[in-house]
Amino acid sequence: MGYYKADLRDIEFNLNELLKVQDWKEFGLEENDVKGIIAEYSKYVENEVFPTREPSDHVGVRHVAGKVIVPEVLHGVTRSFYDNGWFALGLPADIGGTPVPEALYVACMSLATGANCAWTMYPGLSRAALNVVNLKGDEFMRTHIVPRMMEGKWGGTMCLTEPNAGSDVGALRSTAQPLGSGRYAIKGTKIFISSGESDLYENNIHLVLARTPGAEAGTKGISLFVVPRFKINSDGTLGGSNNVVCSKIEHKMGIHASATCELQFGQDSQTEGWLIGEEFHGMETMFIMMNEARLYCGLQGEAQANLAYMMAEKYTRERAQFGKEIILHPDVRRNLLRMRAMSRGMRALCLYTANLFNKAHHDPKQEALISLLTPICKAYCSEQGFNVSSAALQAHGGYGYCTEYGVEQFVRDTQIAMIYEGTNGIQAIDFVMRKILKDGGKTLSALSQEMIASVQGLDDAKFKREKDLFGKVLLSAQSVMQQISGYAKNNQYNLILQNCTDFLTFASQMVIAWRLLDSAVLSDQKLAGSTPEDRKYYESKITDFKVYCSQYLIHNLSIAKTISDFTEDMTTLEI
Ligand SMILES: Cc1cc2nc3c(=O)[nH]c(=O)nc-3n(C[C@H](O)[C@H](O)[C@H](O)COP(=O)(O)OP(=O)(O)OC[C@H]3O[C@@H](n4cnc5c(N)ncnc54)[C@H](O)[C@@H]3O)c2cc1C
Repeated sequence: MGYYKADLRDIEFNLNELLKVQDWKEFGLEENDVKGIIAEYSKYVENEVFPTREPSDHVGVRHVAGKVIVPEVLHGVTRSFYDNGWFALGLPADIGGTPVPEALYVACMSLATGANCAWTMYPGLSRAALNVVNLKGDEFMRTHIVPRMMEGKWGGTMCLTEPNAGSDVGALRSTAQPLGSGRYAIKGTKIFISSGESDLYENNIHLVLARTPGAEAGTKGISLFVVPRFKINSDGTLGGSNNVVCSKIEHKMGIHASATCELQFGQDSQTEGWLIGEEFHGMETMFIMMNEARLYCGLQGEAQANLAYMMAEKYTRERAQFGKEIILHPDVRRNLLRMRAMSRGMRALCLYTANLFNKAHHDPKQEALISLLTPICKAYCSEQGFNVSSAALQAHGGYGYCTEYGVEQFVRDTQIAMIYEGTNGIQAIDFVMRKILKDGGKTLSALSQEMIASVQGLDDAKFKREKDLFGKVLLSAQSVMQQISGYAKNNQYNLILQNCTDFLTFASQMVIAWRLLDSAVLSDQKLAGSTPEDRKYYESKITDFKVYCSQYLIHNLSIAKTISDFTEDMTTLEI
């Protein structure tokens, strides 16, 4: 079954010491309150969420007589999640939520996601859909839908994908015919819809992208609709079927407990929906949900990597080969150090990004930085979540390949985060084309200035090797940027597009190294006079930074060379 242990010390360091989330006075939380919430949440996850991970994966979701049945163990945990107030954490007070700093909410969500990623898809998507309805919905939706979603009686989904419209969402064909009074008849097929149907909720609120009559082609002609599984009467009570039919569920490599559904809207009888947000601005409105979901994808990688690392650390301390514990063998130790540096680096990035949401309330300029970091969190953390999970399996040897220790499930469950919410290839294009070139490189350049200041502040005596390396990487970043801007000026877009993934990796590794750098510098300052236990922890933070630089950041030099030396348009090469 594996083993659950949260690295609470590292979470507290990030929240209380590095980001100081207790300083967001609007939440009225002291340092100890933050620690208390994390400890309480972790206890809940250990006792109620983690025990469902393996059995729900084993049983999986079933499609019986048109109904989608989720594993029995998920009913109890879903109920307790809402009843104990964990779903409300981080949501606005005026809808019954418990506002907390965003980084605290994300740290909690990470614990649940590591412990059973597939299950968190149900409340996770419901939360994202709820946010759209609450922000953009009309009075009726806010009065009758939001409270039911808060209680956990109704769930939520996002319906973009169609058989011919995957990455190319603009190709979707679902239609919406006006019926008057803001109501529309929705018709079409959506595929791969997570939580599209389940017996966990008595109603599902689908957010569906479709085209109204005369809409132009592509994403500009798309509008967003709220489509309930069961109709909602004018007094908010449940009406009859709204003719949303789950025609099949997918059988997948991982996240077996998450229902992935094909949904038919308006096939035999009429399905009704309401327009939400403005007509033809569907993508914009859906992006409220998609941005949240993209950060959550990154968190799926971060969360599972961190728990997989904890399992591998425990196992390698107990398993002996050649007369000693395998953690003492250099190659195993190197593997663990790399895993820890990467997992904690991803945690630092995800929590830093979450904290920017609170900063943005005071300083709207932070929005551009959030946009820049979103594809980094999504793509890099999902990819590395998979890599760390695979390394954790390897550290378990043959036992890791078998199901007993629960570590192979991470490998199966993490892969999907690289695919959904815009594949990592699409994220890389978004990162370079929209977040850098369209912005004229302003946000990236401001971020680079912050990195340069951090690197220049490094103590030569303690961090000479890292300072030199980071300095070289920053220089090579400038020349890669010049090269890419040059391609843009000459309209050589294929040369940009073939390098986006490498450039995203390059930028991600700089950002993570920078977050670990700040952590190492703060830890170094705190060493003097700390307790033996804290000393050990702070030293581990310095090690994480050094290991990340020597094992990952250093590869940026070869990534830069890969980009600069290969200048042929790959689409002209035969396959
Ligand atoms: C388990 C699961 C759950 C999902 N949940 C949801 C959900 O809740 N709601 C929803 O709407 N969808 C959902 N999806 C769909 C998911 O978002 C899509 O699968 C994804 O966007 C990719 O689309 P596709 O599968 O059609 O792949 P394609 O678009 O066919 O892509 C195939 C490959 O080609 C690459 N590619 C395509 N176009 C380009 C390009 N222009 N440049 C470079 N590379 C390109 C992609 O990166 C990818 O590697 C889910 C999918 C799965 C498997």
